[in-house]
Amino acid sequence: MEHQELLAGLIRLHVLHHAAEHEIYGQWMIDGLAHHGYRLSPGTLYPMLHSLERKGYLVSREERKGSSRRKLYRATDKGREGLAVAKRQLREFTGEAMQDNIEKE
Ligand SMILES: [Zn+2]
Repeated sequence: MEHQELLAGLIRLHVLHHAAEHEIYGQWMIDGLAHHGYRLSPGTLYPMLHSLERKGYLVSREERKGSSRRKLYRATDKGREGLAVAKRQLREFTGEAMQDNIEKE
């Protein structure tokens, strides 16, 4: 993905936002992010999910259906807390960034 380093934080926030609402799994998240204009491969998203889990923002459980299994993730209390902090900062940044646009118009 282009500009991955810059966009990675926003993608993590999408993940946390959705995982705070309901359980998510990798392919669902990849499809959802595609609607937002983020084209992620499993090779990019899965390590992100794993690191969010390692850092305590997500917990996972395994769901088995016949011979296939998938991992479902949801946000922890720490995840919700981090999301709330990030949203405040995002609102702050959006205000500043949009102000720049208005001044330039
Ligand atoms: Zn989203």
